Amino acid sequence: MIQFNKYCKTGTELTYIEECLSSDKISGDGMYTTKCKNWFESKLGSKVLLTPSCTAALEMAALLVNIEPGDEVIMPSYTFVSTANAFVLRGAKIVFVDIRPDTMNIDETKIEEAITEKTKAIVPVHYAGVACEMNTIMKIAEKWNLVVIEDAAQGMMSTYEGKALGTIGHIGAYSFHETKNYTSGGEGGLLIINDEHYKERSEIIREKGTNRSLFFRGQVDKYTWTDVGSSYLPSELQAAYLYGQLTYSKEINDSRLKVWHHYYNAFKCLADAGKVEIPYVPPTCEHNAHMFYLKLKNLEERSEFISILKSNNVSCVFHYIPLHSSPAGKKFGVFSGEDRYTTVESEKLVRLPIYYGMEKKDYTRVAELVLGFFG
Ligand SMILES: *Cc1c(COP(=O)(O)O)cnc(C)c1O
Repeated sequence: MIQFNKYCKTGTELTYIEECLSSDKISGDGMYTTKCKNWFESKLGSKVLLTPSCTAALEMAALLVNIEPGDEVIMPSYTFVSTANAFVLRGAKIVFVDIRPDTMNIDETKIEEAITEKTKAIVPVHYAGVACEMNTIMKIAEKWNLVVIEDAAQGMMSTYEGKALGTIGHIGAYSFHETKNYTSGGEGGLLIINDEHYKERSEIIREKGTNRSLFFRGQVDKYTWTDVGSSYLPSELQAAYLYGQLTYSKEINDSRLKVWHHYYNAFKCLADAGKVEIPYVPPTCEHNAHMFYLKLKNLEERSEFISILKSNNVSCVFHYIPLHSSPAGKKFGVFSGEDRYTTVESEKLVRLPIYYGMEKKDYTRVAELVLGFFG
């Protein structure tokens, strides 16, 4: 079976994990968390905090920007549940905006009509590691005095106009879940703080609402409970695993891009013939090959495609069921304007196998089967 995903493993992780186990600290914020933090801070130029997941990072963001019951938060419906849940947990109402069919990202031209006096934040989701139209989104946010929290769960190593995803809004979040390009042993995430104003409080919220970080830096002489917070530290073992991947960041990215470009070149003729749609990457974006998807005619053709590839031992999978049509989405959210693309486009989309170290014989076989399907 050619799997849809294999979690990323470079072979360096065990060395770091063993070193960590032979030290006397395995809880959070030890040597490996610091190493990862320094790696990201020098690359991104923003303050970062390692978290147990991207979900946790988004929850921290909702606390940081003081989301309160009744506040409205704008996001696409075509996303993972955590994008919405983080804000629903604070009592927010979710306002879903339609997507653009070319990138499957939030349609920036439909955001303004979703804004009311209750709107507090916009949460763009960079689907497949391809950036949303951030210039427009940041201008809208500035005009209406809103906070932008980038759900860049899939976006590590991707850029928009040369800027790393997650560093453009006020706050950003990455995921290191095993399904993402880089993992910290299965689960993990990163909170990226681009706005000065959230820096100090982000450490307090992450340290159970205490000023423990200030204490360890000698900035206060005892630490105490100062704010709301929770436990948002990953273990050192997770950081050690992640560090092994960071030292291979380019190899991992290149390996995925190789597979992505093979698919892209192989299916270009199908797209030109109007048989299928292939991903569109705007010229302002560099992407990280997080995902390779095709869009077929409709749900029926997609189901047939998935089952034929499965019978040839290749696992292809669809993706999000739009949140606004789910039971919780109906309860906690509302769709702004017309659902012109979200539902129909989501029903056409299918993802092909792609992972670090995928062998040439495997991705060429997938490509041949796909070409065969379309005759
Ligand atoms: C994976 C993902 C998340 C959640 O990440 P976890 O690290 O599993 O919490 C959130 N948003 C998007 C868009 C994702 O793809």
